[in-house]
Amino acid sequence: MKVSLKGQLFMVKPINSTLTNTLTNIVIKNLANTLSKTFISLALIASFAANSQEQIALTGEIKQGGLLVGKTLAQNTVTLNGKAITVSKAGDYTFGFSRDDKKSYQLVITSVNGDRVEKTLTPEKRSYNIQRIEGIKKSIMQPNPKSVARAKQDSKQVKTARKVASPLNYFAQGFIPPIEGIITGVYGSQRVYNGVPKNPHFGLDYAGKTGDPVKAPASGTVLLWVPDMFYSGGTMIIDHGHGVSSTFLHLSNSYVKQGDTVEQGQVVAAVGKSGRATGPHLDWRINWFNVKIDPALVLKVKPLH
Ligand SMILES: [Zn+2]
Repeated sequence: MKVSLKGQLFMVKPINSTLTNTLTNIVIKNLANTLSKTFISLALIASFAANSQEQIALTGEIKQGGLLVGKTLAQNTVTLNGKAITVSKAGDYTFGFSRDDKKSYQLVITSVNGDRVEKTLTPEKRSYNIQRIEGIKKSIMQPNPKSVARAKQDSKQVKTARKVASPLNYFAQGFIPPIEGIITGVYGSQRVYNGVPKNPHFGLDYAGKTGDPVKAPASGTVLLWVPDMFYSGGTMIIDHGHGVSSTFLHLSNSYVKQGDTVEQGQVVAAVGKSGRATGPHLDWRINWFNVKIDPALVLKVKPLH
């Protein structure tokens, strides 16, 4: 007879039936003791977890590239590894994990009377594919000094926009896909342009035709519209609050301007192929400040409202 407990294997060799019965009884009795201890500790863990769950309401995937949205009392304070996370007037807060995040995070919520609940979050590791892209123009692959300077200026402008920490809390209301195209490129892939390895791809690419309408995935404020950035062409950034922003690349047109308020689903721009693009498509990115988030995971975040 074999009795397996937590990976250990107890073997009971049948010598004669009486001895086997006695041995079986001893094993069963020990097993019962161990199991009851195990059950008690499991029950304790479960009740602790249930308590924490009640007070730490989170939605989103604890994965590399994931965005988490939480809800607590507006007067509570939230920290992630000791750094303060802004809580909205409705009690919403958010944070995210980068493509190669290997850290563990301690999320701590403290009430006004000093009660603390905490949760350890370790983003699940992901593996990313390699995507080869051929036919990029030489002027883009080996830009002249003027273009290099332009690209630097573009990236500075984008970085500045993504630093905005507004009190908007549209990030907590869920996201919709900006167009209904076939997905042709995913987040995280290692990109090889004309055989030369470059930065990973951080957007979600949708196939589309030049002029196809692009909708705001969530409500917000237009932070930036530049029609002709060197790499990303027509580039728009929409602020959804607390550092969460959407960026659209390679656009052919914009129907809104910097500072405009947009509603979720509102047509804000048109698909194009401007900048480093081999054909018309929409590249949609999501950031939490400078942390590049996977838009495909953001689409799965369920609103807590
Ligand atoms: Zn792309």
